[in-house]
Amino acid sequence: MVTPQAQVNANQIANASIKTVSAGTPLNFPPAKNAAQELRKQIDSTLKENFENRWTNLSTNGRYQAVGQLLMHVQSDLGGKDTGCDVPLPRQFTPSEIQKNGNDYYYEFDDARGVKVLHINSAWLETTHAQEVIQKMASIAHKIYNRECNGIMQPDNTAAVNYAKDIREKIFPVPSIDSIKKNCANWANLNAPAREKAILEFSRYIASDLGLNYPPNVRFNVSNDGSQGGNACVRDGVVECFPEVLTENNPYRVLELIAHEMRHIYQEERIKNPQNDTERAWAANTPSTPNSTYVRLNADQSNLDAYERNAIEMDSNIYARKIRRLLGDTGGRDFPGNPYK
Ligand SMILES: [Zn+2]
Repeated sequence: MVTPQAQVNANQIANASIKTVSAGTPLNFPPAKNAAQELRKQIDSTLKENFENRWTNLSTNGRYQAVGQLLMHVQSDLGGKDTGCDVPLPRQFTPSEIQKNGNDYYYEFDDARGVKVLHINSAWLETTHAQEVIQKMASIAHKIYNRECNGIMQPDNTAAVNYAKDIREKIFPVPSIDSIKKNCANWANLNAPAREKAILEFSRYIASDLGLNYPPNVRFNVSNDGSQGGNACVRDGVVECFPEVLTENNPYRVLELIAHEMRHIYQEERIKNPQNDTERAWAANTPSTPNSTYVRLNADQSNLDAYERNAIEMDSNIYARKIRRLLGDTGGRDFPGNPYK
């Protein structure tokens, strides 16, 4: 399923309403060369814990501190690459409601030409999705470092995004296919929180497989308003799972569902700049496109065949089926155009 509102999280954050937050005392970062001695190359266990397990329960100030830790790590890590650069990355981090020049962040210089204060859109700290925060902050820090320390104006975001992915995956590792298979084999013994954890790990595998910048946020036990034919949907770039997902006893059906929804996010990315006939067909079929060719599923599912012939649904089904086969499963309902019988 895909909703007309579906779009990537980045847009959601960019368009989020700006609220004022009380950020507490600005962090005073030590100069890069000193900090590098302690923090270079390693992700501190507290930093990892703050993002991996505590993020949703942290106060705004706690998140502010966690992001400060992250920036300090990036600063040390990049400073450790010894380019002879002594211009520090942000030494104080101040969440701010201010958006200068239409950007989500800006930074100011101190007298010594160094970057002194980084201001960001405070809405960024309000997201519950820790992986998105890491991706954004590490990417910004990389861009600032290259511009100010190396004099490199990056023509696009590729290097910064890839650097941020590396940092993110140190905190949220991409699981091996074997560990996913193990969770499937043990599915009957997993309680709901353990199943949520297994699904989130799986989402990291799929995001990596699809080449997404970062995995989407996945919400569980979202109430099903009846407008969906399946047990999950993508709304505003978030995979929303209905209660049935966690009580489903066939793990392959669950993972197929998540892979299907995440493939819709991949499609949304691709149709921003379609490169071939397949992607142009997805663009025409996407529900948010004016005069979209998308056929909605009737409540009684009487038009299931026509629905499954939607270009984006067929592609999502084919991809999800491929993943199911990859996990060693042979089950599942057939559908038109299925090359994985
Ligand atoms: Zn779908």
